[in-house]
Amino acid sequence: MPNKADVIIIGGGVIGSSIAYNLLNDGFAGKILVFEKDGLYEFASTPRSAGGFRQLYTTVINMQLSKYSLQIYKDFAKTMAIDGEEMEIDFKQRGYLFLAKDDMMPKFEQHLKLQNENGINSRLLDKNELLDIIPELNTEDIAGGLYCSESGYLDPYSVMQGYIRNAKKLGAEYVYAEVDSLITDQDHIKGIKLVDGSEYFSPIVVNCAGAWASILGEKAGVPLPVVPLPRQIFQFDIEKPLKKYLPLTMDPTGVYFRHEGEKFISGYAEDIEPGINFKWRRSAFEEHIWPVIANRIPNFENAKIERGWSGLYDFNTEDHNAILGEYPTMKGYFVAFGFSGHGMQQAPAVGKCLSELIRTGKYRTIDLTPLRVERFAEKELVVEDAIY
Ligand SMILES: Cc1cc2nc3c(=O)[nH]c(=O)nc-3n(C[C@H](O)[C@H](O)[C@H](O)COP(=O)(O)OP(=O)(O)OC[C@H]3O[C@@H](n4cnc5c(N)ncnc54)[C@H](O)[C@@H]3O)c2cc1C
Repeated sequence: MPNKADVIIIGGGVIGSSIAYNLLNDGFAGKILVFEKDGLYEFASTPRSAGGFRQLYTTVINMQLSKYSLQIYKDFAKTMAIDGEEMEIDFKQRGYLFLAKDDMMPKFEQHLKLQNENGINSRLLDKNELLDIIPELNTEDIAGGLYCSESGYLDPYSVMQGYIRNAKKLGAEYVYAEVDSLITDQDHIKGIKLVDGSEYFSPIVVNCAGAWASILGEKAGVPLPVVPLPRQIFQFDIEKPLKKYLPLTMDPTGVYFRHEGEKFISGYAEDIEPGINFKWRRSAFEEHIWPVIANRIPNFENAKIERGWSGLYDFNTEDHNAILGEYPTMKGYFVAFGFSGHGMQQAPAVGKCLSELIRTGKYRTIDLTPLRVERFAEKELVVEDAIY
């Protein structure tokens, strides 16, 4: 039956494709249909991501997700190779660095303790150690930094393609069409309806539609506190190269920067209205980013902006973390969205654990129940101290 499946996944970005791949790789023998409205992934969040990978979290659940995902990304090129062709994702383990002013250090010390207790290889750096990593850094107003050398940045588009190609190879079928709505019958899911009116049926539907996911849920009476939130990225070049490649560096102002090839990208947590908006404004670089980076690294004073883009966070307005699992009042309806700017790095672990939950009804690799849908009603939010 062409319009019947065992699992329907809405959204073929990095999350939907990782779930499809992990299900099949873990031995799921049913039929999986992945619906994707944007065949070129022009507006999807994954290819528009900054590609940052970090383990410097302040909640145990996010640390666990990163620790698992790190192992997968380290070997991704080889384990996801197809017909001998490696799936290169350009993972640069150049470190992840949060810079701290004096008054931030006590908090960083607490974060460090928790991270080390949970097996994260992070350490606090003093000013001299910071200069070993970024020799040009202006440390005048900086007391130190929290650093993890195993982290860094990678190419999100290649990760997504790796999952898509391997999911397809294992038998997932991608349907390039837009889902209009969920089909439900009181307390259980039945399938989906496309914008062209055709219907597809499945006892399991996984909503991985990213920044558009909550719109579908809302329409079906299964809402979640997630909104699309625009975020801009700026690419620039400089005249005098830096002595060393940068870690992904987070300034105390919330502006981050890293190398992109021999050039650089940067972004910040803009105070902006939620909405589906891909406007990119050069003036935001001049007003919000340049003053910060020019002060932090003198070589950035003559930064020449080259290009940039804007993408959408699927922003969880309650606690800024992913919402994962089955919706309590809608049997068979699973969600995996609300990543709020850190979904690309969590995709391997989320795919693995959702595969376990869907196949066996239980998490095995990591217990993701802290990120369950019910946490909002139960007032058990998962609050991160370090989300930008
Ligand atoms: C500027 C920016 C910087 C970021 N930086 C980082 C970073 O440094 N590190 C990190 O880990 N994360 C980062 N993120 C977040 C990361 O990109 C996301 O968390 C992740 O890509 C989410 O993947 P996804 O598959 O859920 O979403 P998407 O990649 O958006 O995939 C969802 C897919 O669903 C499809 N879809 C939506 N609605 C429908 C429908 N009705 N029917 C069919 N298909 C539909 C869309 O077309 C889309 O392809 C950043 C995001 C942005 C925007």
